[in-house]
Amino acid sequence: MHELAVTKSILQLVLEQAEQNKAREVVKISLVIGEMRNLEEEWIQRYFDYISKGTIAETAKITVRKVPVLFQCQQCGATFHADVHVEEKIVCPKCNGFEYDLTAGRELLIESVEIK
Ligand SMILES: [Zn+2]
Repeated sequence: MHELAVTKSILQLVLEQAEQNKAREVVKISLVIGEMRNLEEEWIQRYFDYISKGTIAETAKITVRKVPVLFQCQQCGATFHADVHVEEKIVCPKCNGFEYDLTAGRELLIESVEIK
């Protein structure tokens, strides 16, 4: 159900933008989604098709660019990637430190909207 709430807000934003630009049809929506978000492209499209019925975005195709998770070590400053769904304990590969900040991977943006 997580995807449904997100998809609703995406549709709302897209329709607002389309209206401002006096669009007749929304053709394509490009999204940027961080790995941490746990959002499946397939489900976003499915929900979108369902909730956009009767709007000018009902035939829009959604594309998703995934952003990998990136951490920055607080001790040595190294930036590294870790698969948060596989690795239980994440440590810095350079200094084995375990204090770090998440610098990428939580994105949820509409990159572009193609309209007619
Ligand atoms: Zn480190």
